[in-house]
Amino acid sequence: MPAGVYLHIPFCKSRCSYCDFATDVYRSSDAVDRYVNALCKEIVKFQLPDNAENNWIDTIYFGGGTPSLLSPQQVERIIYAVDSAFLLMGADEVTMEMNPATVTIESLKGYRSLGVNRASFGVQTFDDRALKLLARGHDANDARTTFALVREAGFTNISFDLIAGLPGQTLEDWKKNVREAVSMKPEHLSLYLLEVHEATPLAEQIRSGRQPKPDDELAASMYEFMIEELTAAGYRQYEISNFAMPGFESRHNSKYWRLDPVYAFGVSAHSFDGVERYANERDTARYVEMIETAATAEVMRETIDVASEFAFLGLRLVEGLDLDSYRLRFGIDLEEKYKRELETAADNGLLEFRAGQLVLTERGKVFSNEVFSIFV
Ligand code: SF4
Repeated sequence: MPAGVYLHIPFCKSRCSYCDFATDVYRSSDAVDRYVNALCKEIVKFQLPDNAENNWIDTIYFGGGTPSLLSPQQVERIIYAVDSAFLLMGADEVTMEMNPATVTIESLKGYRSLGVNRASFGVQTFDDRALKLLARGHDANDARTTFALVREAGFTNISFDLIAGLPGQTLEDWKKNVREAVSMKPEHLSLYLLEVHEATPLAEQIRSGRQPKPDDELAASMYEFMIEELTAAGYRQYEISNFAMPGFESRHNSKYWRLDPVYAFGVSAHSFDGVERYANERDTARYVEMIETAATAEVMRETIDVASEFAFLGLRLVEGLDLDSYRLRFGIDLEEKYKRELETAADNGLLEFRAGQLVLTERGKVFSNEVFSIFV
Protein backbone atom coordinates (compact mmCIF):
# COMPACT_ATOMS: atom_id res chain seq x y z
CA MET A 1 0.00 0.00 0.00
CA PRO A 2 1.61 3.33 -1.02
CA ALA A 3 2.02 5.91 1.77
CA GLY A 4 1.09 9.60 1.73
CA VAL A 5 3.24 12.67 2.28
CA TYR A 6 1.98 15.66 4.27
CA LEU A 7 3.79 19.03 4.10
CA HIS A 8 2.95 21.70 6.67
CA ILE A 9 3.17 25.32 5.52
CA PRO A 10 2.67 27.43 8.65
CA PHE A 11 2.05 30.91 7.21
CA CYS A 12 -1.21 32.85 7.05
CA LYS A 13 -2.10 36.43 6.08
CA SER A 14 -3.55 36.99 9.56
CA ARG A 15 -4.59 34.80 12.47
CA CYS A 16 -8.23 33.68 12.71
CA SER A 17 -9.86 34.03 16.13
CA TYR A 18 -10.61 30.28 16.47
CA CYS A 19 -7.30 28.96 15.15
CA ASP A 20 -5.37 26.40 17.14
CA PHE A 21 -2.99 25.29 14.36
CA ALA A 22 0.75 25.88 14.22
CA THR A 23 0.73 29.04 12.10
CA ASP A 24 2.62 32.33 11.88
CA VAL A 25 1.53 35.55 10.28
CA TYR A 26 3.29 35.88 6.91
CA ARG A 27 5.96 38.55 7.38
CA SER A 28 8.51 38.37 4.57
CA SER A 29 9.35 36.16 1.64
CA ASP A 30 12.84 35.74 3.15
CA ALA A 31 11.36 34.07 6.25
CA VAL A 32 9.25 31.81 4.04
CA ASP A 33 12.29 30.97 1.89
CA ARG A 34 14.28 30.01 4.96
CA TYR A 35 11.40 27.78 6.06
CA VAL A 36 11.17 26.16 2.60
CA ASN A 37 14.93 25.47 2.71
CA ALA A 38 14.53 23.76 6.08
CA LEU A 39 11.51 21.77 4.88
CA CYS A 40 13.38 20.56 1.78
CA LYS A 41 16.36 19.58 3.92
CA GLU A 42 14.13 17.58 6.26
CA ILE A 43 12.55 15.75 3.30
CA VAL A 44 15.82 14.99 1.54
CA LYS A 45 17.32 13.60 4.78
CA PHE A 46 14.29 11.35 5.39
CA GLN A 47 15.15 7.76 6.36
CA LEU A 48 12.59 5.09 5.59
CA PRO A 49 11.55 3.30 8.82
CA ASP A 50 12.65 -0.33 9.22
CA ASN A 51 9.08 -1.63 9.06
CA ALA A 52 8.39 0.04 5.66
CA GLU A 53 8.55 -2.22 2.62
CA ASN A 54 9.29 0.54 0.10
CA ASN A 55 9.21 4.31 -0.41
CA TRP A 56 6.15 4.41 -2.68
CA ILE A 57 3.68 7.25 -2.26
CA ASP A 58 0.55 8.18 -4.19
CA THR A 59 -0.67 11.29 -2.37
CA ILE A 60 0.96 14.60 -1.44
CA TYR A 61 -0.90 17.12 0.70
CA PHE A 62 0.17 20.75 1.24
CA GLY A 63 -1.64 21.76 4.46
CA GLY A 64 -1.36 24.66 6.81
CA GLY A 65 -1.52 27.48 7.46
CA THR A 66 -2.04 28.78 3.96
CA PRO A 67 0.12 26.89 1.44
CA SER A 68 -1.21 29.10 -1.37
CA LEU A 69 0.99 31.89 0.02
CA LEU A 70 3.95 29.97 -1.46
CA SER A 71 5.17 30.96 -4.91
CA PRO A 72 5.14 28.27 -7.62
CA GLN A 73 8.97 28.32 -7.45
CA GLN A 74 8.87 27.44 -3.74
CA VAL A 75 6.32 24.68 -4.40
CA GLU A 76 8.56 23.35 -7.18
CA ARG A 77 11.53 23.09 -4.82
CA ILE A 78 9.43 21.17 -2.29
CA ILE A 79 8.03 18.76 -4.90
CA TYR A 80 11.56 18.22 -6.23
CA ALA A 81 12.68 17.29 -2.67
CA VAL A 82 9.74 14.88 -2.27
CA ASP A 83 10.58 13.34 -5.64
CA SER A 84 14.15 12.72 -4.52
CA ALA A 85 13.11 10.93 -1.30
CA PHE A 86 10.06 8.96 -2.50
CA LEU A 87 8.89 7.03 -5.50
CA LEU A 88 5.78 8.75 -6.83
CA MET A 89 3.29 6.25 -8.24
CA GLY A 90 1.17 7.09 -11.27
CA ALA A 91 -2.23 8.81 -10.90
CA ASP A 92 -1.15 10.67 -7.79
CA GLU A 93 -3.41 13.00 -5.84
CA VAL A 94 -1.60 16.27 -5.04
CA THR A 95 -3.70 18.58 -2.87
CA MET A 96 -3.04 22.15 -1.85
CA GLU A 97 -5.05 24.02 0.78
CA MET A 98 -5.92 27.50 -0.47
CA ASN A 99 -7.58 30.46 1.17
CA PRO A 100 -9.64 33.15 -0.57
CA ALA A 101 -7.69 36.18 -1.81
CA THR A 102 -4.29 34.48 -1.61
CA VAL A 103 -3.86 33.38 -5.24
CA THR A 104 -3.64 34.82 -8.74
CA ILE A 105 -4.41 33.11 -12.03
CA GLU A 106 -0.64 32.95 -12.65
CA SER A 107 0.15 31.28 -9.31
CA LEU A 108 -2.72 28.81 -9.79
CA LYS A 109 -1.55 27.88 -13.28
CA GLY A 110 1.96 27.54 -11.87
CA TYR A 111 0.77 25.06 -9.21
CA ARG A 112 -1.19 23.12 -11.86
CA SER A 113 1.87 22.83 -14.10
CA LEU A 114 3.76 21.30 -11.16
CA GLY A 115 1.19 18.55 -10.76
CA VAL A 116 -1.07 20.03 -8.06
CA ASN A 117 -4.42 18.56 -9.14
CA ARG A 118 -6.71 19.11 -6.14
CA ALA A 119 -7.57 22.37 -4.36
CA SER A 120 -8.90 22.34 -0.81
CA PHE A 121 -10.55 25.69 -0.45
CA GLY A 122 -11.08 27.29 2.98
CA VAL A 123 -14.38 29.14 2.57
CA GLN A 124 -15.79 28.45 6.11
CA THR A 125 -18.87 30.68 5.62
CA PHE A 126 -20.39 33.08 3.09
CA ASP A 127 -21.63 35.36 5.87
CA ASP A 128 -19.54 38.57 6.04
CA ARG A 129 -20.52 39.24 9.65
CA ALA A 130 -19.24 35.82 10.71
CA LEU A 131 -16.09 36.14 8.60
CA LYS A 132 -15.31 39.38 10.43
CA LEU A 133 -15.98 37.79 13.81
CA LEU A 134 -13.64 34.92 12.92
CA ALA A 135 -11.00 37.44 11.72
CA ARG A 136 -10.66 35.46 8.49
CA GLY A 137 -9.09 38.38 6.61
CA HIS A 138 -11.37 38.01 3.56
CA ASP A 139 -15.03 38.48 2.71
CA ALA A 140 -17.58 36.26 0.97
CA ASN A 141 -17.00 37.93 -2.39
CA ASP A 142 -13.29 37.08 -2.18
CA ALA A 143 -14.33 33.43 -1.76
CA ARG A 144 -16.61 33.57 -4.83
CA THR A 145 -13.98 35.32 -6.98
CA THR A 146 -11.17 33.00 -5.88
CA PHE A 147 -13.30 29.92 -6.55
CA ALA A 148 -13.92 31.15 -10.12
CA LEU A 149 -10.17 31.72 -10.55
CA VAL A 150 -9.35 28.21 -9.31
CA ARG A 151 -11.77 26.77 -11.90
CA GLU A 152 -10.40 29.06 -14.62
CA ALA A 153 -6.89 27.79 -13.87
CA GLY A 154 -8.11 24.27 -14.74
CA PHE A 155 -8.73 22.63 -11.36
CA THR A 156 -11.39 19.94 -11.83
CA ASN A 157 -11.19 18.59 -8.27
CA ILE A 158 -12.05 21.23 -5.68
CA SER A 159 -13.03 20.68 -2.07
CA PHE A 160 -14.83 23.29 0.05
CA ASP A 161 -14.46 23.65 3.83
CA LEU A 162 -17.47 25.04 5.71
CA ILE A 163 -17.90 25.45 9.48
CA ALA A 164 -21.27 25.01 11.21
CA GLY A 165 -22.24 26.22 14.67
CA LEU A 166 -20.57 29.65 14.46
CA PRO A 167 -21.51 32.09 17.25
CA GLY A 168 -24.89 33.64 16.49
CA GLN A 169 -25.39 31.46 13.37
CA THR A 170 -29.02 30.39 12.94
CA LEU A 171 -30.30 27.30 11.15
CA GLU A 172 -31.49 29.60 8.33
CA ASP A 173 -27.98 31.12 8.01
CA TRP A 174 -26.53 27.63 7.78
CA LYS A 175 -29.04 26.55 5.13
CA LYS A 176 -28.06 29.57 3.00
CA ASN A 177 -24.38 28.65 3.34
CA VAL A 178 -24.86 25.03 2.35
CA ARG A 179 -27.11 25.97 -0.59
CA GLU A 180 -24.63 28.51 -1.91
CA ALA A 181 -21.77 26.02 -1.59
CA VAL A 182 -23.78 23.37 -3.48
CA SER A 183 -24.70 25.88 -6.20
CA MET A 184 -20.98 26.38 -6.91
CA LYS A 185 -20.63 22.62 -7.60
CA PRO A 186 -17.38 21.71 -5.84
CA GLU A 187 -16.52 18.02 -6.24
CA HIS A 188 -16.02 17.57 -2.48
CA LEU A 189 -17.22 19.23 0.72
CA SER A 190 -15.80 19.04 4.25
CA LEU A 191 -18.19 20.36 6.85
CA TYR A 192 -17.01 20.82 10.40
CA LEU A 193 -18.76 21.75 13.61
CA LEU A 194 -16.97 24.66 15.28
CA GLU A 195 -14.57 23.53 17.99
CA VAL A 196 -13.65 26.17 20.52
CA HIS A 197 -10.06 25.66 21.63
CA GLU A 198 -8.76 27.03 24.92
CA ALA A 199 -6.30 29.92 24.54
CA THR A 200 -7.88 31.24 21.34
CA PRO A 201 -9.43 34.75 21.15
CA LEU A 202 -12.80 33.14 20.37
CA ALA A 203 -12.69 31.06 23.58
CA GLU A 204 -12.02 34.25 25.53
CA GLN A 205 -14.92 36.06 23.81
CA ILE A 206 -17.25 33.20 24.78
CA ARG A 207 -15.94 33.05 28.36
CA SER A 208 -16.47 36.78 28.81
CA GLY A 209 -20.01 36.55 27.40
CA ARG A 210 -19.28 38.69 24.32
CA GLN A 211 -20.20 35.74 22.10
CA PRO A 212 -22.82 33.03 22.78
CA LYS A 213 -21.80 29.50 23.72
CA PRO A 214 -22.09 26.86 20.96
CA ASP A 215 -25.53 25.20 21.01
CA ASP A 216 -25.18 21.41 20.62
CA GLU A 217 -28.81 20.78 19.68
CA LEU A 218 -28.73 23.51 17.02
CA ALA A 219 -25.49 22.01 15.69
CA ALA A 220 -27.27 18.64 15.45
CA SER A 221 -30.07 20.21 13.36
CA MET A 222 -27.48 21.84 11.10
CA TYR A 223 -25.77 18.51 10.64
CA GLU A 224 -29.03 16.76 9.74
CA PHE A 225 -29.92 19.47 7.21
CA MET A 226 -26.48 19.23 5.63
CA ILE A 227 -26.77 15.46 5.12
CA GLU A 228 -30.23 15.79 3.51
CA GLU A 229 -29.25 18.68 1.25
CA LEU A 230 -25.96 17.22 0.07
CA THR A 231 -27.39 13.76 -0.49
CA ALA A 232 -30.18 15.27 -2.59
CA ALA A 233 -27.54 17.14 -4.62
CA GLY A 234 -25.75 13.87 -5.47
CA TYR A 235 -22.93 13.90 -2.91
CA ARG A 236 -22.15 10.74 -0.96
CA GLN A 237 -21.23 11.04 2.68
CA TYR A 238 -18.22 8.74 3.10
CA GLU A 239 -16.98 9.99 6.47
CA ILE A 240 -18.43 11.94 9.40
CA SER A 241 -17.41 15.34 7.99
CA ASN A 242 -16.79 14.57 4.33
CA PHE A 243 -18.99 14.38 1.24
CA ALA A 244 -17.91 13.73 -2.34
CA MET A 245 -19.23 13.28 -5.84
CA PRO A 246 -18.54 9.65 -6.89
CA GLY A 247 -14.81 9.14 -7.45
CA PHE A 248 -13.79 12.38 -5.70
CA GLU A 249 -13.28 11.02 -2.17
CA SER A 250 -10.01 12.35 -0.68
CA ARG A 251 -7.43 9.62 -1.10
CA HIS A 252 -4.97 11.35 1.20
CA ASN A 253 -7.38 11.82 4.11
CA SER A 254 -8.64 8.25 3.69
CA LYS A 255 -5.12 7.12 4.63
CA TYR A 256 -5.61 8.61 8.11
CA TRP A 257 -8.91 6.80 8.62
CA ARG A 258 -7.49 3.46 7.42
CA LEU A 259 -4.29 3.89 9.46
CA ASP A 260 -2.07 3.75 6.37
CA PRO A 261 1.39 5.36 6.71
CA VAL A 262 1.63 9.11 6.21
CA TYR A 263 5.05 10.75 6.43
CA ALA A 264 4.71 14.37 7.50
CA PHE A 265 7.25 17.17 7.22
CA GLY A 266 7.45 20.70 8.56
CA VAL A 267 6.71 22.42 11.83
CA SER A 268 4.35 20.48 14.13
CA ALA A 269 3.92 17.77 11.47
CA HIS A 270 2.67 14.40 12.78
CA SER A 271 3.73 11.19 11.01
CA PHE A 272 2.49 7.63 11.34
CA ASP A 273 4.62 4.81 9.91
CA GLY A 274 2.25 1.92 10.61
CA VAL A 275 3.55 1.30 14.13
CA GLU A 276 4.78 4.56 15.63
CA ARG A 277 3.50 8.10 15.60
CA TYR A 278 6.00 10.94 15.83
CA ALA A 279 5.79 14.72 15.80
CA ASN A 280 7.96 17.73 15.09
CA GLU A 281 8.61 20.86 17.11
CA ARG A 282 5.61 23.23 17.16
CA ASP A 283 7.39 26.60 17.04
CA THR A 284 8.40 27.64 13.50
CA ALA A 285 11.62 29.51 14.37
CA ARG A 286 12.75 26.65 16.60
CA TYR A 287 11.85 24.07 13.91
CA VAL A 288 14.00 25.91 11.34
CA GLU A 289 16.94 26.13 13.78
CA MET A 290 16.68 22.43 14.66
CA ILE A 291 16.64 21.37 11.00
CA GLU A 292 19.50 23.72 10.11
CA THR A 293 21.69 22.36 12.91
CA ALA A 294 20.63 18.73 13.28
CA ALA A 295 18.41 17.87 10.22
CA THR A 296 15.66 16.63 12.54
CA ALA A 297 13.02 18.47 14.57
CA GLU A 298 11.40 15.42 16.16
CA VAL A 299 10.20 16.08 19.71
CA MET A 300 7.78 13.21 20.32
CA ARG A 301 7.60 9.51 19.39
CA GLU A 302 5.16 6.90 20.65
CA THR A 303 3.96 3.46 19.77
CA ILE A 304 0.22 3.73 19.38
CA ASP A 305 -2.51 1.33 20.38
CA VAL A 306 -3.32 0.41 16.77
CA ALA A 307 -6.39 -1.65 17.76
CA SER A 308 -8.05 1.27 19.60
CA GLU A 309 -7.28 3.78 16.89
CA PHE A 310 -8.49 1.40 14.19
CA ALA A 311 -11.78 1.10 16.09
CA PHE A 312 -12.61 4.76 16.40
CA LEU A 313 -11.21 5.72 13.00
CA GLY A 314 -13.34 2.94 11.45
CA LEU A 315 -16.38 4.44 13.15
CA ARG A 316 -15.72 7.76 11.38
CA LEU A 317 -16.45 6.03 8.07
CA VAL A 318 -20.07 5.88 7.06
CA GLU A 319 -20.05 2.10 6.52
CA GLY A 320 -18.81 1.78 10.12
CA LEU A 321 -16.47 -0.71 11.74
CA ASP A 322 -16.54 -4.29 10.54
CA LEU A 323 -16.47 -6.40 13.72
CA ASP A 324 -15.25 -9.59 11.99
CA SER A 325 -12.33 -7.80 10.30
CA TYR A 326 -11.43 -6.26 13.64
CA ARG A 327 -11.48 -9.66 15.34
CA LEU A 328 -9.39 -11.19 12.55
CA ARG A 329 -6.80 -8.40 12.55
CA PHE A 330 -6.35 -7.97 16.31
CA GLY A 331 -7.68 -11.20 17.82
CA ILE A 332 -10.02 -9.15 20.03
CA ASP A 333 -13.79 -9.40 20.34
CA LEU A 334 -14.65 -5.69 20.43
CA GLU A 335 -18.25 -6.29 21.55
CA GLU A 336 -16.99 -8.33 24.49
CA LYS A 337 -14.13 -6.06 25.48
CA TYR A 338 -16.21 -2.83 25.56
CA LYS A 339 -19.59 -4.47 26.31
CA ARG A 340 -20.79 -2.08 29.02
CA GLU A 341 -19.60 1.14 27.29
CA LEU A 342 -21.05 0.11 23.91
CA GLU A 343 -24.40 -0.78 25.47
CA THR A 344 -24.57 2.62 27.21
CA ALA A 345 -23.74 4.44 23.98
CA ALA A 346 -26.39 2.38 22.13
CA ASP A 347 -28.97 3.16 24.87
CA ASN A 348 -28.13 6.86 24.43
CA GLY A 349 -28.88 6.60 20.71
CA LEU A 350 -25.28 7.15 19.61
CA LEU A 351 -24.43 3.72 18.18
CA GLU A 352 -26.08 0.75 16.56
CA PHE A 353 -25.10 -2.75 15.46
CA ARG A 354 -26.02 -3.35 11.81
CA ALA A 355 -25.28 -6.72 10.15
CA GLY A 356 -21.88 -7.24 11.76
CA GLN A 357 -20.96 -3.56 11.55
CA LEU A 358 -20.75 -1.08 14.43
CA VAL A 359 -22.17 2.18 13.07
CA LEU A 360 -22.65 5.68 14.47
CA THR A 361 -26.24 6.92 14.35
CA GLU A 362 -26.95 10.43 13.00
CA ARG A 363 -26.86 11.66 16.61
CA GLY A 364 -23.66 9.68 17.22
CA LYS A 365 -22.00 11.50 14.31
CA VAL A 366 -22.69 14.84 15.99
CA PHE A 367 -21.47 13.66 19.40
CA SER A 368 -18.79 11.34 18.01
CA ASN A 369 -16.11 12.39 20.53
CA GLU A 370 -18.26 10.85 23.26
CA VAL A 371 -18.22 7.52 21.42
CA PHE A 372 -14.53 7.67 20.47
CA SER A 373 -13.56 8.21 24.11
CA ILE A 374 -14.68 4.60 24.75
CA PHE A 375 -11.58 3.36 22.94
CA VAL A 376 -8.99 5.84 24.25
S1 SF4 B 1 -6.42 30.40 7.71
FE1 SF4 B 1 -6.60 28.45 8.81
S2 SF4 B 1 -4.54 28.01 9.58
FE2 SF4 B 1 -4.58 30.20 8.98
S3 SF4 B 1 -5.04 31.31 10.86
FE3 SF4 B 1 -6.99 30.91 9.81
S4 SF4 B 1 -7.75 28.94 10.66
FE4 SF4 B 1 -5.57 29.14 11.20
